[in-house]
Amino acid sequence: MINIVLFGKPGAGKGTQAEFLKTKYNLTHLSTGDIFRYNIKGNTDLGKLAKTFMDKGELVPDEVTIKMLESECNNNPDSSGFLFDGFPRTISQAEALDAFLESKNDTITATVALEADDEILVKRLLERGKTSGRPDDQDEEKIRNRYQEYNEKTAPLMDYYKGQNKFQSVNGIGSIAEITERLSMVINSLK
Ligand code: ADP
Repeated sequence: MINIVLFGKPGAGKGTQAEFLKTKYNLTHLSTGDIFRYNIKGNTDLGKLAKTFMDKGELVPDEVTIKMLESECNNNPDSSGFLFDGFPRTISQAEALDAFLESKNDTITATVALEADDEILVKRLLERGKTSGRPDDQDEEKIRNRYQEYNEKTAPLMDYYKGQNKFQSVNGIGSIAEITERLSMVINSLK
């Protein structure tokens, strides 16, 4: 079982790369952003709650996010490994994930970060917003707010995973295929 955390700022390409990696390594892809958006579409209570935060570019509260993630994992008992995309995003989420996996005699294998410069990413997101229909990608202020959330709450996770010797990063600038290759080299080295 390998469990990978795909790490990176908004727009770094986590979702795009996850699509390739999940097939290549037979992993269950869990994107908290996608699950929230699915709930918003279905107008569920969870979706309504998440929307109030996402629309402002703020993180959804930990308690809600952690509960949702755990239930998604429990819904995939036969998985041969998870690819976490957009989770954890806070130290509390990371601690909860460690405890949850440990309760199943499992653990995070590695965290791999996609590195890219903020200004390039903001441009990418505004471009994506033109076609994705995502309200959080269409307004520069909301985008900047997501970066502020990232810097305050998510960036400290790098030290958290470095402390566990589970942090690696790759250059996130290049063609999609090049970046898949860089990530694959890291994942292959874990096996
Ligand atoms: P991006 O990485 O481009 O911001 P995501 O789809 O991963 O896109 O996330 C979109 C939004 O969903 C975030 O801005 C946040 O509001 C919410 N969200 C996603 N994952 C989490 C999480 N782990 N904790 C809290 N909120 C989250």
